[in-house]
Order: sequence, then C-alpha cells, then structure tokens
Amino acid sequence: MYQKLLIANRGEIAVRIIRACREMGISTVAVCSTADREALHAQLADECVCIGTERPKDSYLNMEQILSAAVATGAQAIHPGFGFLSENTRFARMCRQCGIDFIGPSPESIEKMGDKAEARKTMVRAKVPVIPGTEEALTDAETAKKYADEIGYPVIIKASAGGGGKGMRVARSAEEFKELFVMAQNETLQAFGDDHMYLEKYLERARHIEFQILADQYGNTVHLGERDCSVQRRHQKMIEESPAGFLSDKLRREMGKAAVKAAKAVGYYSAGTVEFLVDQNGSFYFMEMNTRIQVEHPVTEMVTGIDLIKQMIQIAAGEKLAYRQKDVELRGHAIECRISAEDPEHGFLPCAGTVTNLYLPGGNGVRVDSLLYNGCSIPPYYDSMLAKVIVHADTRQEAIRRMKSALGELVIEGITTNLDFQYDLVGSKWFEEGNTDAINDALEKRCGKIC
Ligand code: ADP
Repeated sequence: MYQKLLIANRGEIAVRIIRACREMGISTVAVCSTADREALHAQLADECVCIGTERPKDSYLNMEQILSAAVATGAQAIHPGFGFLSENTRFARMCRQCGIDFIGPSPESIEKMGDKAEARKTMVRAKVPVIPGTEEALTDAETAKKYADEIGYPVIIKASAGGGGKGMRVARSAEEFKELFVMAQNETLQAFGDDHMYLEKYLERARHIEFQILADQYGNTVHLGERDCSVQRRHQKMIEESPAGFLSDKLRREMGKAAVKAAKAVGYYSAGTVEFLVDQNGSFYFMEMNTRIQVEHPVTEMVTGIDLIKQMIQIAAGEKLAYRQKDVELRGHAIECRISAEDPEHGFLPCAGTVTNLYLPGGNGVRVDSLLYNGCSIPPYYDSMLAKVIVHADTRQEAIRRMKSALGELVIEGITTNLDFQYDLVGSKWFEEGNTDAINDALEKRCGKIC
C-alpha cells in the first residue's frame, strides 16, 4: 500500500479523500491555489503545496505543477477527485510516465468513454441499449438537421466532450433546430474548447438512473446498485437517492448486468458510474459512463456500507476486489442534498463571501461532507457546492423526515445558499410522491420557490 498520496483537488471531495487516507494509514499531500491557502483541505492534510494562482488553469488544472509537487513530496499516487483533471487522459498518462499511480481507470478507458459519441458506438458493439441517435460527431448545423429530421422531434443536442449539463439543448421542432444547434455548439466551444456535437431522441419524462461500478485490475467487476438522480435543474443534479423507488428487482438485475457489460467493454477498473435513462415503459438506455468518483457517491456508501474512496485506492495499488456480486447488499434508503452557494431568488447565481456562523447537523444516520468551517471564505473561482447532506434510514419516508430534520438544523450564515430551497423541495408533496416530473417542470419555469 502507498505511504503517501497527493490529492489533486479542493473542497469537500479533497477532505473526503484525506479522511479515507487517514483511516488507511496513508500520509496526505494537499495542493492549493493562492485563494485556498486557508481552505479546509489545505489545513487538514499532512502537507500542503501551493501550486498557483486563483484561476483553475493556473493551479488545479496545472498538470506540471501538480506532478512537480508529487515528485517533490515523494507521493506515490494521485487521487484526482471529480472535475478538474479526473477525466483527463493526458494527465493520467503523465502520471504513468512519472511513475506515479493515477487513482482511477487507465487512460485508455477514460479515452474510450470520454468522447460521448465514441462511447455510444462502443456500447452499440457491446449490445448495451443506447438511445436512438447519431453515431458520428457533427459540426455542421445543416447536416445535423438532416439527422434530427430522421430521428424525429423532440431531439436533444449534446456535446461530445460534454459534462455538467453544458452544451445541451432540446429541439422540439424542425423550425427551431438550427438555431438551438448553433447555441449549444457555441456553449460547448466556450466550455470545452471543442465543437463536436451529437444528437439523441429526447425521451420525455424519463428517469436518470445510474449504476455504481467497482472493478479491479484483474477483470472482477461488480455493481453496487443504482442512484436515482432525476431531480435536476437545467440538466444538473440537485438531489440523489438510492435505491430508486420504482425499480423492480428484475429491472435492477438487468440494468446492473448491462452496467457491468458497459464497464467490461472498455476494460474498466476503479470506481465508475454508468448512467442510464429509463423511459415510462421501463425500457432503459445507456447515456454515458463517468470514469471517476462522483459527487453523489455517499448515497451508495450508505446503502452498501462500502467505502468507495478506499476501494479506489486499493484497486489502484493492485489489490483484488474483496466483493463478488452476491456479497453486495442494499440496506435501507439514502438521500443526498447538495448545498451550494447560489441564490435561488436570482436564477441560482453563484455567490462568494465569508461564513460568519455555522452549525452542522449530526445524529443517527446523518452525514455531512463539506468544506465549511466557521470563518472560512468561499472564493468566487470554483464550483459553488459547499456541502452535501446525506441521510440513511430504514425506509424512504423515514429518510425524507431525517433529511428535513437535518436541513432544518443546518445553519450557514454570511453567504447566500440554496438551503431553504432544498428544505422546501425535500419537504414537498411532490418529492414524497416521487413526482420528479412535477418538480423538474417547476424548476424549469420558476426559480425562487418550489410548490
Ligand atoms: P452531462 O454529462 O452534461 O451531465 P448527460 O448526458 O449526463 O450530460 O445528461 C444530463 C441530463 O440531461 C440527464 O440526466 C437527463 O436528465 C437529461 N438528458 C440527457 N439526454 C437525454 C435524452 N436523450 N432524453 C431525455 N433527457 C436527457
């Protein structure tokens, strides 16, 4: 096992990884930007190296600086967390060249799943059902429209290099297609520096169900059940839960098998997530695979009792998976709410500032993964997520009540957050009924209040 590990990330996920390392007896090296010198992850790690100025490209995306920090401190492995360099094949290869283990899948697997249009093709070959759509990446609106006409409206225009709901538009008719295509393409170019797009049939009122995968370097692959991430605002997840209420054991088995097949098709090892859409008839379709740990991983940890970060580290170090599929049991129900520094009254605009008063909830089955402490400052340069509140209980209803209780106790002062909004959301009749369509429609139309 490694003696020292560097965490190439910030925020709550960096803290999460530091904690896992502590439990495994591994020393930790944090990296930080000049804006994050006082950040929680920078303070908690055994060592911290400042790698550059505020802007991500000068620090958390600066591969040479991060690798220099790893070499200088004698770290044997790098955990990239999520976002930043977590799905960057160049970085994964550079780690390899420096003799440092990248805690994640091989660069080859990242590559195969990273280009979403390419991943669709691989899945078609592996006989995993995909949403009807284009096989080739598109750059020209005129050609794209021909394909859209063929697929039939509504179609969703998506970025090959996509992520975080960026560069996506739903075209409901031929008339509006070209304009929306160009808009999506411009957004894609801005966000990812790439303008390759692809199209899918837009599935109305579908559910976002994703399967957590764990696989070692010897071909052993299991799934750890699903997460329902259907509550979204502008295609971005807000609340996640496990298990998905409407999923029968049979469908869970089928989807789990398809997820394992998808992972095996790209020779996957480490933790990963296979995302599906499930339509109203219970048919499911592969959407994409995220080749990294995800924000919502704690939900799965709560229902399976398996520590995903530790597993990733063990797998990278060459250990064999200790679980077979039949050893994985889902117990009870878990829900996660993302608490972000954003203003629901003003279009969920991200906010920055200093936390002047903080109280974090606790108690049986309540977990808070956060970057917060009293007096910490929230710089404007990074993702606005401050904390994840995760609860676990025997039943969904109990979990909802526990979440309401936890969010009711949580106090974050000095900075605008979506806390009250999330409280209303989990407490709503719609959420209780599992009526995500009503919630998502309301989120689409209004910004300030739910129900
Ligand atoms: P990203 O990687 O940017 O998050 P995804 O491909 O995961 O993008 O899609 C994000 C969300 O958009 C999905 O969870 C789903 O709600 C919606 N979505 C994507 N593709 C479709 C589709 N073909 N039909 C209906 N909804 C879709």
